[in-house]
Amino acid sequence: MKLTHLSEQEIQRFAELGSNNTELNSHVAECQDCQLSVENYQSMFKAIEEAEVPIFDFDLADLVLAQLPLAKPQYAWLPALAASLSVIFSAALVFYYGSSILEISRGISPIWILIIVCPAVIITALQFFSVYQDYSKKFSILNEHNLAT
Ligand SMILES: [Zn+2]
Repeated sequence: MKLTHLSEQEIQRFAELGSNNTELNSHVAECQDCQLSVENYQSMFKAIEEAEVPIFDFDLADLVLAQLPLAKPQYAWLPALAASLSVIFSAALVFYYGSSILEISRGISPIWILIIVCPAVIITALQFFSVYQDYSKKFSILNEHNLAT
């Protein structure tokens, strides 16, 4: 026989599933405190199983969905405008000063071109990676939602 009382977890497990452990079985058979705890849990589990599921005369899901704000498609106007302006500005610069830019760039040492180009490439790659991760995450959430329904 187990000499100490059963732990709360042991009592709950015993009340719900019984036990194959002879030590626990003999302790519960002989200890009134543990027997009482097991009976309390068993009557509680029985009451929970027998509790009626509330039935509403209205569709709760429809009422909740009606209260939720509509998801607005958000378009990032400011970044799109800034990107468009920068493309237009760059194109205008190349169009008007294309030949001069080539001459100027010949005067710049290659190390400075590397210092300018490398961070730009790295930042662009990181931003592309971040956008791709965000896209993948949203796509997987959408897929899970579609599979669930
Ligand atoms: Zn006991």
